[in-house]
Amino acid sequence: MPETVAVIGAGLVGCLAAVALAKRGYEVTLFDYRLDPRLATTQDRNLRSINLAISARGITSLEYVDKGISKRVLKDIIPMQGRMIHNLRGHQEAQNYGLFGECINSIDRGVLNNSLLDEVDNLQNVALKFGHKLSQIKFTPNAKQTCVFTTNAASAAKEYAFDFVLGCDGAYSSTRSQMQRELRMDFSQEYIDCCYIELYVPPAKEHNPKFNGKFAISPNHLHIWPRGNYMLIALANGDGSFTSTFFGPWSLVEGLDTRSKIQDFLTNNFPDAVEIIGLKQAVDAFENHPRGALMCVECSPYHLSQGRAIILGDAAHSMVPFYGQGMNCGFEDVRVLMQLLDKHSGNRAAAFEEYSSKRHTDLVSIIKLAKNNYKEMSHGVISNLYLLRKKLDTL
Ligand code: FAD
Repeated sequence: MPETVAVIGAGLVGCLAAVALAKRGYEVTLFDYRLDPRLATTQDRNLRSINLAISARGITSLEYVDKGISKRVLKDIIPMQGRMIHNLRGHQEAQNYGLFGECINSIDRGVLNNSLLDEVDNLQNVALKFGHKLSQIKFTPNAKQTCVFTTNAASAAKEYAFDFVLGCDGAYSSTRSQMQRELRMDFSQEYIDCCYIELYVPPAKEHNPKFNGKFAISPNHLHIWPRGNYMLIALANGDGSFTSTFFGPWSLVEGLDTRSKIQDFLTNNFPDAVEIIGLKQAVDAFENHPRGALMCVECSPYHLSQGRAIILGDAAHSMVPFYGQGMNCGFEDVRVLMQLLDKHSGNRAAAFEEYSSKRHTDLVSIIKLAKNNYKEMSHGVISNLYLLRKKLDTL
């Protein structure tokens, strides 16, 4: 009889983990409290960010799980070979990431998640259960683990028993909080003083021959408008639009409490961005779009003894987005765990134990790098050349 596993969370990491485990012969059930995001009727989508950057770390991990999968799930990526820094006068300066064409890639979060769900659907030994919210796990030594769910359909809770549980249920993980009742898990959660707001750059109104006719600015760069302790960034989408995100301290954002203050702020700081977004649209978005908080989660260990449960992805290491590595690292978690399961010939207790001790240093480091990269992006990227030009401008 194959071993049974509940994967909690059908986000980016949970889907990849389900594929990886199914390919190793486990009988997988993948749960999510949302409804199927591929259905036209589903409103309740994961709207954390419209697009993300996937790097070599993530792509290598996808390919480790299933050779050839990246050709299917990453077919719409847009390579970004470097940053494009926009100064106050609208001057743009390209900074390549590497000497040999190395790049990160912009991808639509929803498209990637849906493609991974399609991969899950193509596997015989994975059952998908949407509309199931994990509320409790009854952990039992040397026996099955019982997961309790509230569902949209039934008023009574539903219970399912599994050999083990894989928690991929994001930064506010219920799997993690259930494990914390069983385990002396070190845990910290830290909000940083930064709010994010997403804005939308529409496809170029007039054809721009320089950029394939549809993009207002280069699609192959991660655009940054660095302004000290706040900044704007933009990543291209396949339809010619860009998703732009403003990051800045909460007090600054909350102080912009009238349309005219927002208008002045945007036009004074990001005049060339306002031009391609449209002034009214930029002010509307700043005023009405959700304001996101950013937090870091660190914990240790990541597993429960006897191979009963383990957490991966944001559930184990939520990080601020400035290094573009949250999802990439979550994909890498899946690769590392699968390598250890293979190494220990499926002995979960040994694999989980080694995972927790081996992975912690790397994860703590990347959380730190992500925090530090805010300084780099918001003002470190302003090159000496730019500073010199600015000085000359004032002479
Ligand atoms: P999630 O994406 O949070 O998925 C968790 C899933 O679990 C969800 O589907 C949720 O519905 C489900 N769930 C939650 N609770 C329960 C429950 N109780 N029962 C059942 N289901 C449950 N990362 C990058 O690598 N590159 C980037 O460029 C990048 N940009 C970002 C930009 C922003 C603004 C933000 C906020 C994050 C960014 N990230 C980026 C980070 C990335 O979004 C996360 O690291 C990634 O989404 C984590 O995936 P996950 O599957 O672990 O968690």
